[in-house]
Amino acid sequence: MQRTIRIKLHTNNFLLQTIDIANEIYREILKIGYSKKTYNKNELHKLTYKKLRKKYPTFPSALLQTVRDVASEALKATKLKKGIKAKKRSFLRLDKRNLRVNLLHGSISISSIAGRLKLKFSKNPQIEKYLDWSPVAGTLCYRENKLYLNLVVEKDAPTIQQIQENDVLGIDRGINNIVVCSNNQFFNSNHLKDVKGRYQHLRQVLQSKGTPSARQKLKGLSGREKRFVSDINHRLSKALAESSYKVFALEDLKKMKQNKGKTFNRKLGNWSFKQFENFLRYKSVALGKTVLCVNPKYTSQTCSNCGHCEKTNRLLSRFKCKKCKFELNADLNAARNIAKLGKTEFDRLVVNQPETRSEGFIDLTSHELHLQGEQLQADHFNGR
Ligand SMILES: [Zn+2]
Repeated sequence: MQRTIRIKLHTNNFLLQTIDIANEIYREILKIGYSKKTYNKNELHKLTYKKLRKKYPTFPSALLQTVRDVASEALKATKLKKGIKAKKRSFLRLDKRNLRVNLLHGSISISSIAGRLKLKFSKNPQIEKYLDWSPVAGTLCYRENKLYLNLVVEKDAPTIQQIQENDVLGIDRGINNIVVCSNNQFFNSNHLKDVKGRYQHLRQVLQSKGTPSARQKLKGLSGREKRFVSDINHRLSKALAESSYKVFALEDLKKMKQNKGKTFNRKLGNWSFKQFENFLRYKSVALGKTVLCVNPKYTSQTCSNCGHCEKTNRLLSRFKCKKCKFELNADLNAARNIAKLGKTEFDRLVVNQPETRSEGFIDLTSHELHLQGEQLQADHFNGR
């Protein structure tokens, strides 16, 4: 698994100049790649390397290769159909060829136009948490006169070998209850609805005013509202991830949206269920646990007692099986079905693991990579 941590650096003119030159080189490679219609790294190397080394003799060759790789990816992304108008960039990607970080000693060595620079940084509680992780790559960022290194660190995720049925927690997400869990836990959304209602009212008042100061307040309001929702999501996902369950089964949100109609979708968006899912995944992986998504079709119409599936089994918030007469809260019934599907899905994934991996290892790394933006945010709240 990977995480991104932010390290603040002292402003260093050599590094800033290195970023600027990398930026020029990046644009030159883009131009050449586009005119010669290639994004192949070897070809780009042949077309640009000698020329650029001559033009920018102080620029380290290891960095040149990284800049070329980044340009190659950018060219590939456009499929060479149109030229890229590269804006002035204030960041520089680094990898093992040009970056070494010792988290324990708080030291960094980076290739620059002035040779290898050795820098010190101060550790904060955030960094302390990752001392036993290995740095793999980084991005040097210069924003608002501040220099940062966003460092990607890596560690093997703990593995789950085998699970029992009662290791799986089914989680049903809905409107009346934010989540209902298969172990009879209900997290109702009354408080969330109250607060969101208050925000909505305030928003309407401010919107009708329409003055510049009202618009300013409106902006602040939306930030506060977002933080309120993400705070709830953090607390909820933390409580669940730290419970004794090893696998968390959720309904696949994409399919859920197709099934449940427009009103639900609007509200679903508001409750930020995707964010909840991302937080739960992030916290679970760090504890060696797994989050799975199952197909939501029929979860609300199927009897969790006998398996009988019929549309009329469910009447609003009540579930009553037409066949075995089993009765239960409808969301709880759905959560229990989700848990069963989760167990099946977990077993299927374990069986389908390639033999080269240790048995039962579920690799979530590629998924995690997509979450990096969210992770930074999640990192920020991690202590909660
Ligand atoms: Zn039944």
